[in-house]
Amino acid sequence: MNTVKKIFRILNFPLASWMVFLIGLLVTGYFSHREYKTMQKDAHQAFESEIQAIETAIKIKIEFYENVLYQTRAFLTVGRKISRDEFNHYVKSISLISRFPGIQALSYTVRIPTSELQSYEAQVRKEGNIDYHVWPTDKREEYFAIKYLSPLNWRNERAIGYDMFTESNRRAAMTKARDTGLPAMTKKLTLVQETKTDPQPGLILFLPIYSGDELTMSLEERRKNLTGFISSPFRTRDLFRSIFYEKILPVDFEIYDTKEMNVNNLLFDQDQTPHFQIKNFNPLFSQIKHIEIKGQIFTLFFSTLPTFENTIRFSHIWILLGGVVGTLLLTWIMFRTNMQAAESRRLHEKLFNESRRLNAVLQQMPEGVIISEPSGKLIMRNEQVDSLIGGFTTAIQLDEASGIKALNHEGKVYKNENWPLARSLNQGEIIKNEEMIIERESGKTTFLNVNSSPIKNDENQIIAGVVIFHDITEIKKIQSELEQAVSMRDEFLSIASHELKTPMTSLKLQIQMLLRKLEHTHESIDPLKPNIQGVLILIDKQVSTLNRLVEDMLDISRLRTGNLKIEVSSFSMGDLITETLLNLEDQIKLSGYSAPTVRFSGDLNGVWDRMRLGQVLINLITNSMKYGNKNLIDIQASGTADLVKVCVSDRGIGISNDDQLRIFDRFERAISPSEVSGLGLGLFISKQIIKAHGGDIWVKSVVNKGSTFTFEIPKISV
Ligand code: ADP
Repeated sequence: MNTVKKIFRILNFPLASWMVFLIGLLVTGYFSHREYKTMQKDAHQAFESEIQAIETAIKIKIEFYENVLYQTRAFLTVGRKISRDEFNHYVKSISLISRFPGIQALSYTVRIPTSELQSYEAQVRKEGNIDYHVWPTDKREEYFAIKYLSPLNWRNERAIGYDMFTESNRRAAMTKARDTGLPAMTKKLTLVQETKTDPQPGLILFLPIYSGDELTMSLEERRKNLTGFISSPFRTRDLFRSIFYEKILPVDFEIYDTKEMNVNNLLFDQDQTPHFQIKNFNPLFSQIKHIEIKGQIFTLFFSTLPTFENTIRFSHIWILLGGVVGTLLLTWIMFRTNMQAAESRRLHEKLFNESRRLNAVLQQMPEGVIISEPSGKLIMRNEQVDSLIGGFTTAIQLDEASGIKALNHEGKVYKNENWPLARSLNQGEIIKNEEMIIERESGKTTFLNVNSSPIKNDENQIIAGVVIFHDITEIKKIQSELEQAVSMRDEFLSIASHELKTPMTSLKLQIQMLLRKLEHTHESIDPLKPNIQGVLILIDKQVSTLNRLVEDMLDISRLRTGNLKIEVSSFSMGDLITETLLNLEDQIKLSGYSAPTVRFSGDLNGVWDRMRLGQVLINLITNSMKYGNKNLIDIQASGTADLVKVCVSDRGIGISNDDQLRIFDRFERAISPSEVSGLGLGLFISKQIIKAHGGDIWVKSVVNKGSTFTFEIPKISV
């Protein structure tokens, strides 16, 4: 799949790459083809000249040997009879074998009419060749017997007396020589001298001898005046080898004695294997030539040998290779360059789009945003900046001419180096929620929340900075309105609770007085005494509760105005606990609780605000009664050298972990008002009192198991 994708991508080459590729291949093709043609032409010329050289060498050689025949004829026809010894001497003197290699011998053949045969033979024998006879011996009109043959060796001796005219091939050449007066060559034959040792094909060249001047003779006269022949037999392999002196030719050549090339006609083969017998014979060049040598048509077959082919410079292949490699390289470079250009175009476009997107987002933001270079040069800013702040000469300082003043939260004008973006760019500071006040000449003031941060590269160098201005003028306005409302509420609470306190105190006193009076009244005087007493006790209890609520409200306003004062005196925490329990005795009973268990240990004396700590104890004990499910309440106080710790435990509804975190805050409750009434202020006030004593208060609780509230204060509060 990947390969297919790759091919597809490659096929997707940019046009320029394709052009380079195709032009490169075309140019390479053209030049390598041209080089190939030139190379072939040169090689063919070299081949031709080799052929020419071989052909010429053969012709010259034959010419040369022909001259020997002419020379011999001249010697034999000097006008007197030449004896056998003279002939031998002559042949020896011209160094036939060494100077004319390939020639087997020189022979002198004479024409003998039948009538003279016997006398002829007798005469030859008389000269010393005692076994001489003409052969074959069958009767015929005339005989052409080899009279002399030199040099006389075992091979040549076999031919002495032979009538070559009896053999058709020789006869044809002899007849042609006789009729033309010129040398004539036989076709391929086996020399009579040939034995089984190194047999070779043979050829014989005949030159006619006439009585009289053969140049002026007619055909008839030639036939009539023919006296014999000078001939030389060749062993072809020796002959052709001698032509080239065993030189190794780069070209193979084969010689056939007819136009047809087959084994029977083969006279000589330079490499001794006829080309038609070679499998996959495929030379670079080959050529067939027919030449005429002394009246005989010979076929020459030439073909290049590896030695020839190796000399050819196949430079076109190098051009082709170099060209293809070069083209591929060039195409690749072109492709890479194109790809890189496309990639950078794509990145550029992406960057451009991203920048446009960013710009669009920035313009849509309600906040003012400035992005700047480290030098302060603006990279980007949205329009909101103009409406929020106004003119800038650089991103790191306000334009002085703009008539706008920027103040920090202390109301001081920003110095250039303190300007948020300048701090981020110069010191790498990350600024969060810094308040800035913008004052305009028109008198309009804008409150801004400023965030500023440097932008760093991978090397942690600051490359830009971004600052965001958020308009908080409206929030500020609401905040101040809210603060005003709260302080008004507190004022109201303070006044209301003060106003309520006075009538409530006198109400409580009146009830107490009434109760005391009723105490002394006998039932017989007032039979309603028990009923009235019950109602009065209930009213007293309600007034006490009301009183506490008013006290709490008063305390809240005192806390807000910082007026919660601690008035210390020396007393024992144990005494305070006992006293508080005594005061609450009726309430505890009425609420259906049994008296709490109390345990003291250690020294419980200290210097504290007795009234306030009593308030804390009342709050904790009444809470245990409110949320304690009528189970036993337990109070413990323990003292050390420095501290006194008081724990109030119940076995009631308990408080969840989340609620434990917030019940010490103002108006925070863990229960709905419909279940148990309350303002959620008792624990808040208790915490403030304990804190004012330099101590701490906390709760440990498990839902449905109960709660333990503990406070710890130093013996001498700070
Ligand atoms: P109030 O009792 O008037 O609601 P407090 O500030 O005294 O206000 O107490 C705050 C809340 O803490 C109570 O509303 C109640 O939910 C919870 N709480 C206080 N004491 C106990 C306790 N002993 N057991 C369970 N819940 C308690």
